[in-house]
Amino acid sequence: MCIRITEADEAPEIAVWDPDEVEILVQRGTHQHLLIREIHALLTIDLGAPNSTAGLTCFCGDPVFLPGEQNGDGARSDQ
Ligand SMILES: [Zn+2]
Repeated sequence: MCIRITEADEAPEIAVWDPDEVEILVQRGTHQHLLIREIHALLTIDLGAPNSTAGLTCFCGDPVFLPGEQNGDGARSDQ
């Protein structure tokens, strides 16, 4: 099962790994650059995912998308 990234209103940190749900909870409204940095660190350091410079990567090597970033899956922009 691939890692999902889910926005939460009350995440305790910018990015939190939830092994039960195989997802990373992120604080809603966090600047995307900061989000990517935090998620990238979580994935590569804590979860042992490949350290790809092309973007965020699941531990299986598939790309991981930020909420709303999936191609053709309701891309949206929260102000
Ligand atoms: Zn995967």
